[in-house]
Amino acid sequence: MMPGMHSTMGMRHEHKKEGTSAHAAEEKVFDPVCDMEIDKNTAVTSEYKGTTYYLCSKTCKANFEKGPDKFVTK
Ligand SMILES: [Zn+2]
Repeated sequence: MMPGMHSTMGMRHEHKKEGTSAHAAEEKVFDPVCDMEIDKNTAVTSEYKGTTYYLCSKTCKANFEKGPDKFVTK
């Protein structure tokens, strides 16, 4: 034991941020119009009542926007 070398604070707690991964995982989203699972990166988005919906194509987006209520029923 070395005299005068006692730590005052004990162990330091460092909170490293982890959550930011280098590899962006492919995110799958659901197209409510054609019931298809699609890649978020290639999806067409449409906002309705504050929620973003993902559509597989412009055609689906157009259909969605014609009558979103048909597709967002819970
Ligand atoms: Zn679609």
